[in-house]
Formats: sequence, C-alpha cells, structure tokens
Amino acid sequence: MQKNIICVACPMGCGVTVELDDNGSIVSVTGNTCKRGDAYARTEVTNPVRSLATTVKVEGGIFNVVPCKSAGALPKDKIFACMEVINSVSVKAPVKLGDVLVSDILGTGIDIVATNHCPVK
Ligand code: SF4
Repeated sequence: MQKNIICVACPMGCGVTVELDDNGSIVSVTGNTCKRGDAYARTEVTNPVRSLATTVKVEGGIFNVVPCKSAGALPKDKIFACMEVINSVSVKAPVKLGDVLVSDILGTGIDIVATNHCPVK
C-alpha cells in the first residue's frame, strides 16, 4: 500500500510517498528532499502528531480569553478531546506568558501554556 502525503516540515511542501507492506510496516519513503522529510513522513504514517494553538477563558482579566498553545506536539487522534478539555477550563487573572493552564493534558505529558499575558481588570 502507498500513502501520499505533503511534508509540512518546511514551506517547500514536498510530495512524499510512503510504501507500506501488508503488516503496515514502512518499506520505503520517497519524494522527500531532505532527512527532515523522511522523519516527518514516518511519523505522519505511524503516529501523526499536531501542535495545538487556541485560547482559554479568563475570569477577572482585562481580556475574556488568553491565547495558548501545546508545549509540544499532541497525538492527532486526541486533538478534539484536548479541545474539549481546554474549552471546559477557566483560569483566574492574572495570567503570565508561559503559565501552565492545563498540566499533562489527557495524560499525554504535554502542558497547555499561555502565549501572552492577561492582567487583572
Ligand atoms: S522534504 Fe525537506 S525540503 Fe521537502 S518539505 Fe519536507 S522538510 Fe522541506
């Protein structure tokens, strides 16, 4: 079986083909023009991950929400579940850049951290 993907590890966007055997093991990776593309394609086929950037509700701040991101890449199949957790959270102002807003989200070992400040109103 073949899987054709677009490498997003850099803006070049190379088309990469991953050949899999009947057991789902990777036989070959072609089309990438660098090692990063090879690594990206292998991860994308076996254990796809995504970074998450969104907002968390803030109580008592000058803003109602503060922007945040995952401190690392999350399993792609947990992104929607992570968003449900993040949408259910509300933090109290003040929030500082880098504050952990959700620790170890869904047991992934990845924290959700603030990417901006939100002072008290
Ligand atoms: S294969 Fe290499 S050059 Fe091509 S998009 Fe991926 S990282 Fe960029």
